[in-house]
Amino acid sequence: MAYLKNISKLGRLLAPSLLWNMPRNTNTIYLSFDDGPHPEITPRVLNTLKAYDAKATFFCVGENILQFPEVFQQIIAEGHSFGNHTHNHLKGWETSTSNYLENTLKAEDAISNYSGIMNHQKFFRPPYGKIKHSQAKRLKQLDYKIVMWDALSADFDPSITAEECYNNVIENTKAGSIVVFHDSEKASKKLKSVLPRVLEYYSSKGFTFKGL
Ligand SMILES: [Zn+2]
Repeated sequence: MAYLKNISKLGRLLAPSLLWNMPRNTNTIYLSFDDGPHPEITPRVLNTLKAYDAKATFFCVGENILQFPEVFQQIIAEGHSFGNHTHNHLKGWETSTSNYLENTLKAEDAISNYSGIMNHQKFFRPPYGKIKHSQAKRLKQLDYKIVMWDALSADFDPSITAEECYNNVIENTKAGSIVVFHDSEKASKKLKSVLPRVLEYYSSKGFTFKGL
């Protein structure tokens, strides 16, 4: 799978400066959802999380926040964490560092305007997991914590089944893992069946789910 190769190459280059997982010493899992907010899918995800008393982190696209601010606010009202996923879901490797920064700050404006929260810890996840060293460096200077993952569900990949997606999560997730899902149309169908199964599986093993 090409995206996994890309991530490991990136990991070798940038591993020390990015967050790949949380401490392994408690039975906590950090689910994350990229690409929202979406007016139907995000509320459905929130309801599923609520049923398991699970918190997560939503990496939101700025233009989606502007389109669906009430959904973004629902994420916050229900106690989840949130982060920046650029304003227009940019590919870092194909974007100049100045444009990348400008686009991220545009998303930050949307986040600040609608979250109503000042001085929050700023989390950033690069779309496609692709970010240049110069972009990561600039974001870190602006106090962003750049959050990657150690368990990729590949829920966005049309060539894999829901069962394979579930297995990707189960095979790679352990205490302290950061798991990536997407509250997006591409991932919606798989997510609908996989997310409750993942929550059920780890809850029954005594894990809890927290936001960053
Ligand atoms: Zn994304």
